[in-house]
Amino acid sequence: MQDFTALIRAVADFPTPGVMFRDVTPLLADAGAFARCIDALAEPWQGRGVQAVCGIEARGFIFGAALAQKLHAGFVPLRKPGKLPPPVVTVDYQLEYGSDRLQAQAGAIGPGERALLVDDVLATGGTLAAAAALVGKLGAELLGASVVIELPALQGRVRWQGGAPLYSLLRC
Ligand code: 5GP
Repeated sequence: MQDFTALIRAVADFPTPGVMFRDVTPLLADAGAFARCIDALAEPWQGRGVQAVCGIEARGFIFGAALAQKLHAGFVPLRKPGKLPPPVVTVDYQLEYGSDRLQAQAGAIGPGERALLVDDVLATGGTLAAAAALVGKLGAELLGASVVIELPALQGRVRWQGGAPLYSLLRC
């Protein structure tokens, strides 16, 4: 598998002190590496009948839209609150301090449609778990999820439930 580690910048104390932020913009700026990254994200899903790629705001939009094209699937944005016009479907979820919510356009995915979740980073796993709940609320069939980077120290995979596959390209 392609190793993109050199194109992920680790930024200490961003956005808050104590956090090591993984910056994917150098990877996006490298045409060849970005293309190989999309190929690698697509690889386990080829021939699996993905109908909708659901990308999580904001960097999940970038990887997800490219992946949707690669898989000949539609793209569905899962957004922060207040960004999508009504009617929307909403899921609330807990953060370390406080809560957040994700929304999708009602009817964006048809009942039983086969959906794939995509994001750039799996950290504590709360966001991806909320996205999975949102896809379920829309009535779609969740095939699984792919992320570019998994941070195993934060054990986000523990919050991924239901048995659908969760793939990551890099663990750091
Ligand atoms: P979690 O809910 O798993 O703690 O956080 C994952 C969400 O926060 C993802 O949507 C991801 O974009 C963002 N995120 C958390 N940590 C990082 C990071 O180090 N780098 C980037 N690029 N995004 C992060």
